[in-house]
Amino acid sequence: MGKRVFNFYAGPATLPLKALKEAKREMLDFRGTGMSVCEISHRSKDFQAVIDEATALIRELYAVPPGYHVLWLGGGASTQFFHVPWNLGLEGKPMAYIHTGSWAKEAIKEAKFFGEVKVLASSEDANFNYVPRAFTMDPNAAYLHITANETIGGIEWIEFPDPGNVPLVVDASSDFLSHPVDWSKIGLLYAGAQKNLGPAGVTVVIVREDMVARARAKKLPTMVSYGTHVDKGSMHNTQKKAKALYRLIDSSNGFYRGFARPDSRSRMNITFRLVTEQLEEKCVAEAKARGLIGLKGHRSVGGMRASFYNAMPLKGVKALTAFLAEFQKANA
Ligand SMILES: *Cc1c(COP(=O)(O)O)cnc(C)c1O
Repeated sequence: MGKRVFNFYAGPATLPLKALKEAKREMLDFRGTGMSVCEISHRSKDFQAVIDEATALIRELYAVPPGYHVLWLGGGASTQFFHVPWNLGLEGKPMAYIHTGSWAKEAIKEAKFFGEVKVLASSEDANFNYVPRAFTMDPNAAYLHITANETIGGIEWIEFPDPGNVPLVVDASSDFLSHPVDWSKIGLLYAGAQKNLGPAGVTVVIVREDMVARARAKKLPTMVSYGTHVDKGSMHNTQKKAKALYRLIDSSNGFYRGFARPDSRSRMNITFRLVTEQLEEKCVAEAKARGLIGLKGHRSVGGMRASFYNAMPLKGVKALTAFLAEFQKANA
């Protein structure tokens, strides 16, 4: 086997070696079927066992209460950007959004096809380097949508806002299963798998029964309705990891500069800059030569970004912080 690198890409993201080895072992003969899991029928009991186990694990790990359905859908989180307003929008009520950056912007854009959108707060005034926690809730809204973690800017809602009686809708694509969530506020939570859950290709939607009822009361195309998917049955060491890198950034005397405001720092995507772009390029190249890959920031914000999703081992984070400390010594 070739050498494995530490993959800090923001998505598709690193997967646990243990899971990859198991998939490899089972690729030619999945649990005695004589076929791979990619070849067996989705109606077979062997496949049903796979989806049942995955659903049970999500319920257990995320402490999903009864009264919520776990759905496995296609189309990526981007498809939920329009499925949410289409299913959950209500006549005569605005759909409320908080604008925190690139992914919130996409969600807002799509909702506008379905009715009035009210952006209750935005951190655009500071290039989205913080989470705008102070805002006035609109009690008449059909729902309040937030982006739990902005993958590109590297800011995160450490605690979700309280929308009163209005259901909270959460895009948890890049911090799914990374910390406990308060389900009492949540009407629907969705996440594309490829950041914090597994390989690309599936989207998880966790939806409360009353939200499904709301969707059922509407005339919707079959594959858009959450009701259809319900009927057809369709970890926690991240804090430690992020703290280690932020500590290094904060003690670097300005050699490394964090992008996100300290009160909004993402535990998943740590965004930072060096003094010049040349130095950033050099840093990315030297890291890569050491098997630390995926550290270049998103093209829209530049700089550097290290993504510490659930499957990134502490060992990878230690290798990165050791490298960054050395790089500073050699280049300061
Ligand atoms: C990646 C990402 C998306 C888009 O996910 P797709 O599955 O590629 O559509 C949406 N929201 C957030 C927060 C993301 O990180």
